[in-house]
Amino acid sequence: MGEKTVLVIEDNDLNLKLFNSFLQIGRYRALNAMNAEHGIRIAKEEKPNLILMDIQLPGMDGMSATRLIKEDPAIKDIPVIAMTGYAQEGDGENFRSAGFHGCLGKPIDMRNFLDTLKNLFADEGSPE
Ligand code: MN
Repeated sequence: MGEKTVLVIEDNDLNLKLFNSFLQIGRYRALNAMNAEHGIRIAKEEKPNLILMDIQLPGMDGMSATRLIKEDPAIKDIPVIAMTGYAQEGDGENFRSAGFHGCLGKPIDMRNFLDTLKNLFADEGSPE
């Protein structure tokens, strides 16, 4: 199966560094974008195995970006996990109806982060 590639779309530099360090520890390949437009372009070019999407982004927000991803046949099958702030916790159902695979509430601890990714990839089973 090889290494899984995870695209992180996050505008906060410190959060981005934190998530990259988690991904490195989990032995994932990390791709980064700091806004939605750039993230969608990278998703199309690189076809990552997973997208971690910040909700509050400059310009297009993470909700709108995920709707666009889910409407694009080339990338709609890539699971997208929302990374939400305090105010958005408990909105899990809203996120799922917007097309998100799930959500991680900030602050995100490493164990929860890596468990979520491990479970997601385990549930996917063997690739088609
Ligand atoms: Mn943000």
